[in-house]
Amino acid sequence: MSSSQPITVITGGAGFLGSHLCDRFIAEGHRVIAIDNFITGSPDNIAHLIGNPNFQFIQHDVTNYIYVEGRVDNVLHFASPASPIDYLKIPIQTLKVGSLGTHKALGFAKAKKARFMIASTSEVYGDPLVHPQTEDYWGNVNPIGFRGCYDEAKRFAEAMTMAYHRHHGLDTRILRIFNTYGPRMRLDDGRALPSFVGSAIRGEPMTVFGDGSQTRSFCYVSDLVDGIWRLLNAEIHEPVNIGNPSEITILEFAKEVQTIMKEFTGREAEITFKPLPADDPKQRQPDITRAKSVLGWQPTVGRAEGLRKTIEFFLKKTATL
Ligand code: NAD
Ligand code: UDP
Repeated sequence: MSSSQPITVITGGAGFLGSHLCDRFIAEGHRVIAIDNFITGSPDNIAHLIGNPNFQFIQHDVTNYIYVEGRVDNVLHFASPASPIDYLKIPIQTLKVGSLGTHKALGFAKAKKARFMIASTSEVYGDPLVHPQTEDYWGNVNPIGFRGCYDEAKRFAEAMTMAYHRHHGLDTRILRIFNTYGPRMRLDDGRALPSFVGSAIRGEPMTVFGDGSQTRSFCYVSDLVDGIWRLLNAEIHEPVNIGNPSEITILEFAKEVQTIMKEFTGREAEITFKPLPADDPKQRQPDITRAKSVLGWQPTVGRAEGLRKTIEFFLKKTATL
């Protein structure tokens, strides 16, 4: 390691997004230290990095004191369950990692005089009454609903990040991520895409919740990672939405997955309907004007390409291909 090589700590580094960030930062010449307790992540996601001299892994729950020896330049706090199925199963851990974990990560960044980024979410907008969502919209969140454990923890994390910025002068970034998909998602994480693909692989119907008229806007992981890289290197402390504005109903999305799965496997999965979970946002689409103007960023991977790459990953992982 050269003395000028940037050192970046990534909490949640063994998760879906965290592991892609490890890859990107190492490719950019950083030394990466990933911290994770595997509560929703997996050693598989970082197996290819073990033995790389620019990668170190620390198994640790970041709601407890974080200790890393020596200089650290950047702290990216990505540890948190992210799928509604996950955070409904482990609501207390979700609240703790968003609140206590963010506090520990901020304190750690302050002690190291490092730049800090919090992975926030479009869920801070709740079931939004403003569409598309701009960063200056304060949101419509039910604090005591099933999603409250996640949404409120992230809102607290943003407030804590701004307090460290204003009170301690910490160099902070707030990233609001909209639904992102790609290889290394867990097939059983319950999010729409892995759930549809998992059902189709098992020869079961894909379950659309409600009538499928609710909308989401799905961003491919490489686009998100590029936005994160640019945000860390830009001078902006206000939140920035990163997501793909291409909005689609969940029923249409299920049909797109159905078509691509049929191309790969030759079989057509049925679509069935189940009741809509409580507080499921009716619509979601990022306004990315800020990301475009401040970061010169916009997504480049369309759903047809991104879905093919991700579905191929799932099929290979389950040895269906
Ligand atoms: P993920 O579940 O795959 O990754 C989260 C990682 O954090 C896992 O490896 C998990 O083991 C780890 N973790 C959780 N609690 C921890 C703790 N207390 N100590 C140490 N490690 C812990 O989820 P993801 O999709 O990669 O999400 C990563 C981050 O991005 C999360 O903060 C999430 O809120 C945010 N985000 C993701 C999306 C998305 O669409 N993927 C959207 C909005 C926000
Ligand atoms: N969804 C669905 N079937 C599933 C999983 C999810 O219809 O098997 C719906 C869910 O109700 C939501 C949308 O797909 O309206 C996106 O869900 P996801 O869990 O991926 O993310 P989030 O709701 O957090 O945006």
